[in-house]
Amino acid sequence: MMREKEIREKLSYYGKKLVEKNLVAGPGGNISAREGDYVFLSPSGFFLDEIGEKEWVKVNLKTGKIYGDLRPTCEISMHLGIYLERKEIKAVFHTHPPFTVGLISAGVELKPVFPDFVAVLGRKVPVVDYVVPGGEEIRKAVVKEIKKFNVVLLKNHGVVCIGETLKEAYARSLIVEEAAKTILSGIIAGKLRYLTNKEVEEIENLEVEDYRKNLLKKTE
Ligand SMILES: [Zn+2]
Repeated sequence: MMREKEIREKLSYYGKKLVEKNLVAGPGGNISAREGDYVFLSPSGFFLDEIGEKEWVKVNLKTGKIYGDLRPTCEISMHLGIYLERKEIKAVFHTHPPFTVGLISAGVELKPVFPDFVAVLGRKVPVVDYVVPGGEEIRKAVVKEIKKFNVVLLKNHGVVCIGETLKEAYARSLIVEEAAKTILSGIIAGKLRYLTNKEVEEIENLEVEDYRKNLLKKTE
């Protein structure tokens, strides 16, 4: 179990990484982590790389009580909805990665194009049509998909990645955008070949992938 101070440090660390990797810009995106009955969320209106350790907003998942003076992200309902649906989940990263959002909004499907797609994201990544952000509509749309998937793509908006650790949610956030860039360059270059079903199955059955996946779940 992580101590509160440690969670706050990790959130500030990953907030910086997400901006550095161009997965969010300006005050966009929001991230959170959970320990027991408490969720720590990015404060509303802050740039993700400028949130001090003390500024992450603590919320009681069961009662909804918000601690401190800062207002949590407007997507709080979506974050809490995910934690209530998936008890094992410890981190929710909502980003606005430009290549991914551009491609899915143009109707391009993100499909397994390299081995890490399958290993880190799974063989299928669901896409949700545009809904108004910051409320019950987006919570419903995302929670419905998150029952079965660890990544949800939001047309004309962004991506939601979850993890059993912060690192797992971060890895998923990175690999989604990496896949979008790869697919876009493949399409521009000519006829892109995706992995076949047989190749996807082979990757799913690799023992070495189980080892790597477990490592992501163990490292915070
Ligand atoms: Zn958003």
